[in-house]
Amino acid sequence: MPELPEVEGVVRALVPAVEGKTILKVELSDTIYSSFGLGKQCIVKNIEPNLFEEVMQGMNIQSITRRSKYIYFHLEKNQENFLFVNHLGMTGAWFVVQNLSDITEEKFRKHVHAIFTLESGELLVYSDIRRFGELRFVKKVEDHPPLLLMAPEPFEKGACEFFLEKCELTKYQNKPIKEVIMDGQVISGCGNIYATEALFKMGIHPARKTNRISKKRKIELFEAIRTILKESIEMGGSTISDYRNINGEAGGMQDRLKMYGKKTCPQCNTATKSLIIGGRTSVYCPKCQH
Ligand SMILES: [Zn+2]
Repeated sequence: MPELPEVEGVVRALVPAVEGKTILKVELSDTIYSSFGLGKQCIVKNIEPNLFEEVMQGMNIQSITRRSKYIYFHLEKNQENFLFVNHLGMTGAWFVVQNLSDITEEKFRKHVHAIFTLESGELLVYSDIRRFGELRFVKKVEDHPPLLLMAPEPFEKGACEFFLEKCELTKYQNKPIKEVIMDGQVISGCGNIYATEALFKMGIHPARKTNRISKKRKIELFEAIRTILKESIEMGGSTISDYRNINGEAGGMQDRLKMYGKKTCPQCNTATKSLIIGGRTSVYCPKCQH
């Protein structure tokens, strides 16, 4: 699942490719239409697929920004502003190409769900193999309240204090630390990969109760998360399974991961263990992490 650095990589690639361009038309996949007919909203949320296609015609893509693991497309048409918010889910990917055949990997080409034809003649394509991603159309962020509950950006001033305050709440105090740092209402954009890495770096067992970690260690943990997220952004993200940036390129951070997906600890050579915490597999070293 793409985490903050991977989403940042997609945004940094999308900005020069499509910012300022106007959408001529949109074509959504048959899967989106048929799921809507069955009362499900596959990928396109909050709006009927045919209305989405209609309303997108003539929209100017004013800017593209990232907020936590979401991509915001800020749009304008007839002096009115709109937004569609994209979450990549497990396997969402964007491509900017002249033709669909330019998407080199067949698995992405086979699972194209939205084609935005730009006035420049290029195609902005959204592909999603497992279809857990979202294209949510709203007038403004406030129209989808869960977006307002997200923790501050981890690099923002005050994000660490926000994290410390949340840790004091009854609902988080007795929870395993890994579950807490992966909660988007506590820290923005830290998923399984970077939570696993930061806890390993700190020598903290992922199941350790949040209130059993001192304030000083919590501050250091937050700093460790920030450092690893920054390092990963610089490396173009981690390519775990199906993450690609818009040119179909993979990131390089996966080669630097020390604990995520590892069978032995790089520090002491002990076999790693894994636990399910908050529904996610958590790998750790039984010797180095307490
Ligand atoms: Zn170890």
